Amino acid sequence: GGGDAAAAAPERGRFLAGAPPDASPSASSDDAGGDRALYAELLEEALERAPRAFSARLMVRALSVAASAHAGQVRRSGEPVVRHALETALVLAGQGLDDAVVAAGLLHDTLDDTMMTEDTLREMFPADVVDMVVGVSRMSLISQLHRDSAVLDSQGSDRFKAMLFAMADVRVVLIKLADRLHNMRTLEHLPAAKQRGMARETLHVFAPLANRLGIWNVKAELEDLCFKYLEPEQYEQLKSGVNNERNLGLLLQALDALNQRLDARGLKCRDLLGRPKHLYGIFGKMQAKGVGLDEIYDACALRVIVDSEEECYAVLEEVHAQWEPLSQKTKDYIASPKANGYQS
Ligand code: MN
Repeated sequence: GGGDAAAAAPERGRFLAGAPPDASPSASSDDAGGDRALYAELLEEALERAPRAFSARLMVRALSVAASAHAGQVRRSGEPVVRHALETALVLAGQGLDDAVVAAGLLHDTLDDTMMTEDTLREMFPADVVDMVVGVSRMSLISQLHRDSAVLDSQGSDRFKAMLFAMADVRVVLIKLADRLHNMRTLEHLPAAKQRGMARETLHVFAPLANRLGIWNVKAELEDLCFKYLEPEQYEQLKSGVNNERNLGLLLQALDALNQRLDARGLKCRDLLGRPKHLYGIFGKMQAKGVGLDEIYDACALRVIVDSEEECYAVLEEVHAQWEPLSQKTKDYIASPKANGYQS
């Protein structure tokens, strides 16, 4: 919203869900057919990617209304704007949020970027859903003012951040984060100056917000995307230093070794995963310590998910039996969680 979508000028919405108040001129009937085909295609895809959420009637109606409201609108990437609405909603569905939030995600740009009005939304959707859409719209406006203010000073960012942290309905913040995540994923299509403004605001406001809310995968992805646009050379350099075949080979070996140990001990884990850590986190450590990548010990990580604290410590024992612990670097976040609530 508020220009995030980089949409073409809003045009008259055509509603599939109810008869349009005035019939579209016949000249645009081809367009309407195309819009319906697009809607059908998106619904099919949504049912595949988030079957539970999109089996709800509320979601089908929200997608239909979003498709009609954004009909004919195209982003700079050439993708229809309604695709952005759907991707935002799918991020929320992926986080296991309830139907009202996902539906509000589908509708989140309709007030800012189309002819849709709050009153019309209220005739079609539960108050809870519309209240969230209104909240996102308000937040988008402030975000736009914030980006447009001549300098993105840290004071302005702090004020903006404080305001978001104080938002009464945290679900509105979650929708805005999902919206921003998809906008950052598709940032390559914006002009360079806009990319930097968006990346700076995301890094200083939205990534800390995701961190505070405990959505660490979103925080990590946002930071890496910002890093890529703000420090392209350092990003590429670090990426090839961390995400290379040698490291991936070592990770696979480590996974194998740990898996065998856990099996031998009869420990069942829900998930065992090896991955390079997110680049911006590594970069931050290098900066803070003034060291190179070769002195970063946790550029790659293994993650084991088990059911209980007891099993957690049992896994840790196996890890320490397999690899010698560095006494200075061993931290127990099970007993002493981080300030942001992270505990493992
Ligand atoms: Mn949006």
